[in-house]
Amino acid sequence: MKVAVVGGGPSGLYLSLLLRRRRPGWDVQVVEQNRPDATFGFGVVLADTGLAQLHQADAASHDAMVHAMRFNHSQTIVQREVPIAVQRNVKGGAIERLALLHILQRQCEDAGVVLHHGRRIEHPDALAGLGLGDADVVVGADGINSVVRQAFASAFGTTQQQLTNHFAWYGTERVFETPALVFRRHDGGHFVAHYYPYSATMSTFVAECDDATWRRLGLDRMADAERQALFERLFAPELQGLPLISNKSTWRQFPVIRNAHWHHGRHVLIGDALTSAHFSIGSGTRIAMTDAIALAEALVAHEDDVPAALAAYEASHRPRKQKLIDASERSYNWYERIGEWMDRYGPEEFVYQFMTRTGRVDDRRLREQFPALMDRLARARAGA
Ligand SMILES: Cc1cc2nc3c(=O)[nH]c(=O)nc-3n(C[C@H](O)[C@H](O)[C@H](O)COP(=O)(O)OP(=O)(O)OC[C@H]3O[C@@H](n4cnc5c(N)ncnc54)[C@H](O)[C@@H]3O)c2cc1C
Repeated sequence: MKVAVVGGGPSGLYLSLLLRRRRPGWDVQVVEQNRPDATFGFGVVLADTGLAQLHQADAASHDAMVHAMRFNHSQTIVQREVPIAVQRNVKGGAIERLALLHILQRQCEDAGVVLHHGRRIEHPDALAGLGLGDADVVVGADGINSVVRQAFASAFGTTQQQLTNHFAWYGTERVFETPALVFRRHDGGHFVAHYYPYSATMSTFVAECDDATWRRLGLDRMADAERQALFERLFAPELQGLPLISNKSTWRQFPVIRNAHWHHGRHVLIGDALTSAHFSIGSGTRIAMTDAIALAEALVAHEDDVPAALAAYEASHRPRKQKLIDASERSYNWYERIGEWMDRYGPEEFVYQFMTRTGRVDDRRLREQFPALMDRLARARAGA
């Protein structure tokens, strides 16, 4: 079996690693536009529910990731300048995106995956130039702007919709004590900072505001550097005077990408190329890697019949994945109305609304996992 993977992000590398681990004789090659030491973004969260799946799929890469992660038991949510600590009895962890890619690149190379870095393709036909024109399977693991998906958009049944909020992904050398979400009103606008430490020297800082704020306060007329400076001023107490760091950190609106069909002929999609998962649930990488697990399982189970393998991948994985995608949709719809919630709710009620926004957490689970928070909420409601 010859497998050509377009995109050497988390999903493409992980799929390739799993395939070579299970079938060392297969020819598995990855085509990645960036150099091995370049990527977008900073650190990403990997929750421990996802880590258990990664451990089951491949213990060696899981152990290396866990070793490079920074774990945390609590998150602080700040609304109307009141910080509320949410203690978790499960551990969440964060890892530098580049560290994650380096682990997967190294293990891929050890397992015999061929990595072509610094090679961007504009269309799957261009794979022929790398000797991959005869691949049995072509995997689109090439992220949100996937060329594999775009080449067969009508066969995949692709839909794309733009959210209205605006965001940019920064880093900072301020190593925060705990992950936090800060909701801040300023000059009639509504601003959000999502930040978490991911190494001994760096934190991720995602800056966001709603569209009404964007236009009313003139962010639409600012250059990216001015927007960055505005967030540095607004969140100076948290940043303690340190600047935000840009890594191709352009301001954009999140594209919601969906595909009615996951495969077309020998072409198949995984990760963000298939379904963009909103950053507010902190699970896009995990979801992308679980797509890789499902596709690897299906290809290995049906190694003599590629169409059957691709059909099995979609049939078995789609219902499981849909639950996370539904959660992502409820989460971004909540953020799309952030100004309304910030104006309406006091700190305790706001945290409650935030934590129940995806429908995956109900009152019973909140009482079990966050009893102190629920006591505080009950007191606030009684007072009100
Ligand atoms: C602000 C923000 C914060 C986030 N935070 C988190 C988080 O905390 N936790 C989490 O789990 N997820 C997070 N995510 C989501 C996460 O980054 C993605 O879901 C994840 O990277 C998807 O992995 P992927 O491999 O499918 O795609 P990508 O990571 O996008 O990888 C695609 C790869 O394909 C390459 N490529 C693209 N086109 C071509 C081409 N034509 N030729 C060759 N190569 C190509 C790219 O260079 C890239 O390396 C966040 C996303 C954003 C925007």
